[in-house]
Amino acid sequence: MPEGARERRVRTGGVELCVAELGDPGQPTVVLVHGYPDSKEVWSEVAARLAERFHVVLYDVRGHGRSTAPEPLRGGFTLAKLTDDFLAVVDEVSPDRPVHLVGHDWGSVQAWEFVTVGRTEGRIASFTSMSGPSLDHFGQWINARVKRPTPRRVGQLLGQGAKSWYVYLLHTPALPELAWRGPLGKRWSKILERVERAPGGGGYPTSSLPSDAAHGAWLYRDNVRARLRRPRTDAYAHVPVQLITPQDDAFLSERLYDDLEQWAPRLTRRTLAAGHWIPRTRPDQLSAWIGEFVMSVEGGHPAPKATGRHADRFGGQLVLVTGAGSGIGRATAFAFAEAGARVVAVDRDAEAAARTAELSRLVGAPEAWAETADVSDEQAMEKLAEKVHRAYGVLDVLVNNAGIGLSGSFFATTPEDWRKVLDVNLWGVIHGCRLFGARMAERGQGGHIVNTASAAAYQPSRALPAYSTSKAAVLMLSECLRAELADQGIGVSAICPGFVNTNITATARFAGVDEAEERRRQEKSSRLYGMRNYPPEKVAEAILDAVIRNRAVVPVTPEARGAHLMSRYLPGLLRRLARVEPRL
Ligand code: NAD
Repeated sequence: MPEGARERRVRTGGVELCVAELGDPGQPTVVLVHGYPDSKEVWSEVAARLAERFHVVLYDVRGHGRSTAPEPLRGGFTLAKLTDDFLAVVDEVSPDRPVHLVGHDWGSVQAWEFVTVGRTEGRIASFTSMSGPSLDHFGQWINARVKRPTPRRVGQLLGQGAKSWYVYLLHTPALPELAWRGPLGKRWSKILERVERAPGGGGYPTSSLPSDAAHGAWLYRDNVRARLRRPRTDAYAHVPVQLITPQDDAFLSERLYDDLEQWAPRLTRRTLAAGHWIPRTRPDQLSAWIGEFVMSVEGGHPAPKATGRHADRFGGQLVLVTGAGSGIGRATAFAFAEAGARVVAVDRDAEAAARTAELSRLVGAPEAWAETADVSDEQAMEKLAEKVHRAYGVLDVLVNNAGIGLSGSFFATTPEDWRKVLDVNLWGVIHGCRLFGARMAERGQGGHIVNTASAAAYQPSRALPAYSTSKAAVLMLSECLRAELADQGIGVSAICPGFVNTNITATARFAGVDEAEERRRQEKSSRLYGMRNYPPEKVAEAILDAVIRNRAVVPVTPEARGAHLMSRYLPGLLRRLARVEPRL
């Protein structure tokens, strides 16, 4: 347990529950209920963070950790008895004020019972659910699909059916007990670390695990079949609910929650790029979302502020975008802002960065800051990273987007031109990945890096040798880094736009021509890009989508997608096209 936890024992229904408390009892009470096969220690990281602001209460569910088990076990774990336990705990720890309930896995399954039965009304203020559906909603979900089996709905049923393999096993007699008291119990913490990348520590998992898991099998046996066969039809939540769904949950399909608004009308959805054991793998994000939700309910405003399309995924996250003063970078900052992210807008143009930050706040960012830095300047980037980590925190999403254009044949391109374009387009990305990515990896709670490459990364051309080389390097860097960071839950995406209507043409350098000719070419190419008129907002959308779906390489615009296909299947044709001299 985290340091300073106070323990007490609560007697109820023939068992004695071990209850731990942290934080100031004068603050709103948050009750954390653990799942299977866990004990309250699964919450140690989240509890320590929440205790800075709240009165945090955790208890070992009957038969788990340091709570005693009912006698006999069969029939001792019904949802009705678990509800009695919960009420006994809250009567002790918060007799006068309703509590904020948080449940994970089976902790959430039972908490759904608490918030949908009449006898707890007035005792619960809000509920945050993660990775544990209501058995009643689940039963209705199955019924609806069995009654009207369209191919899609049958697919959903089979998908969830396959993910529930362990539920069938837990219904077999004696086998789970033997496994948990034998090899499975011994190896569990290694399995968790390898499969879920869930770290131990804080006394987790506890040595009681084999007997917790053996007792906990009765949670399933006492409830699952009976409830799924005859789900309650009145299981409506009487409190605001926050649903946190990990996208890569090995045991639960996201589709289970499609109709949840019907049961929980005051619903806030959150999505996380993570596996099942998020209390261990994402404590920062969970405690931030729980804290925000509790405070909004306490203040009487259960709905979150940002209502943008991806608010469930990016609400409250910290996102840094370089080259945010114009074009794709600015549009990307706005798209994250609309989704409720906290935005750091970085550009070498201070005024442009400030404007982006200001507008980001207007469109939905709870906080936005402007920072001035030249991404090619290693020391400036080090200073920036130092300041960002100190003042705003570790990034959830990094978008290395700043870049400059350079056109001209290989022999017209001077070493100085080469250096400049590689310094900004390649070294800028390297500095960003190195300085911000390292902290992301060190935190160990996932994240995402987006690098803006270009269709020029895979489409050769005699007109853009230096620019294309810089972008090809960014593409390969992204692929390599993606491989390196995959184990740490950090995704890396390379975005490859074609022609996008931004300022890049007006500022691009044209090597090998005089100033007047350069200006003429800048104007001409700006006109052409203007006629093509592909908006940077669409690239921004593709960037958010790449983060959500953890896409590796994302060609944006039809010509970029076409060239990408050609580079795979018709590279000869692409090489012939590369020989065409553009007329500007
Ligand atoms: P843009 O010129 O509109 O915006 C680029 C921004 O980056 C500007 O605000 C500029 O001040 C900033 N910037 C430039 N160098 C910087 C540096 N050294 N440090 C910090 N900030 C710097 O251009 P855009 O089209 O939005 O370009 C964004 C990215 O998209 C670039 O990497 C570019 O190569 C890439 N891209 C653009 C297109 C396109 O057609 N516009 C196509 C493919 C790829």
